[in-house]
Amino acid sequence: MAVIFDPLRGRVRPEASHPDAAIIDVLTKTYSDADWAVLTGAGMSTDSGVPDYRGPDSPPRNPMTIQTFLSHPDQRARYWARSWMGWPRMRSTQPNQAHLALAELSLAGIITQNVDGLHQAAAEAVAADRATEAGAPAPSPVIDLHGSLDRVICLSNGHLFDRDWVQRRLSELNPDFAEAVGIDPIDVETAPDGDVELEDTAGFAVLDCPECGGLLKPDVVYFGDSVPAARVQAANRIADEAAGLVVLGSSLAVLSGLRFVRAAAKEGKPVVIVTDGPTRGDEFADFRSISRVADFVTAWAAR
Ligand SMILES: [Zn+2]
Repeated sequence: MAVIFDPLRGRVRPEASHPDAAIIDVLTKTYSDADWAVLTGAGMSTDSGVPDYRGPDSPPRNPMTIQTFLSHPDQRARYWARSWMGWPRMRSTQPNQAHLALAELSLAGIITQNVDGLHQAAAEAVAADRATEAGAPAPSPVIDLHGSLDRVICLSNGHLFDRDWVQRRLSELNPDFAEAVGIDPIDVETAPDGDVELEDTAGFAVLDCPECGGLLKPDVVYFGDSVPAARVQAANRIADEAAGLVVLGSSLAVLSGLRFVRAAAKEGKPVVIVTDGPTRGDEFADFRSISRVADFVTAWAAR
């Protein structure tokens, strides 16, 4: 893989291996859409205003690990306070052109490292547009590898709750909190996993599982945590049955994503990587585009 030094960014950037049109020929003529498993990362959602999410293997900017979450009630209160403040803005994010174009394709499946639910939102939007068309293609299955912020899970017994319901309960438990800390929930800076910068979280009342009293946590994979086995198997099934892998908007810094690239390369399947910066998978890429993900996917879907 050829690389060029980018003096503006002060780092080595990859070089495109082929023009996008040639890569899209391979995607659509040598193969068909249903042959491809697609792995997506944070770069997919940046145009939607979703900040980079810290995956399970990347050192968190704030040291919230699963161990800290479990063993420190004050840290848990801090986490939930920040999450409660950040949810209205995170919830209002919309799929962008990249999600919408990708949702036009009937792929072997989409495996995403994102926790924002925007692939599903895009699929719903596309399905609504197609409601009157006969024989519209089936939507691609989506696996949220690192979970989804719209769900909350009970750590004792796996009870699941809708995030909006938990939000309302937290608001009831903390009626004066936003005013007391002087923050408008819509205006605060939203940090990568949907929480906010907020230090004064003493006194925030957290919610325990209403079914069993267990601890509640957003159903996303934290640093130090692992992806649930059933989800890994579902993702593996998609990747195994696909003829090749397309990576969109991921630096592949997280091992849970990189291993799909390694596995595809090992089996001799074609690997396509579309990401503007360097990735940990570049050495495995047969086809490399440094175009914006939205531009590339729009061109793909237009074929
Ligand atoms: Zn429970």
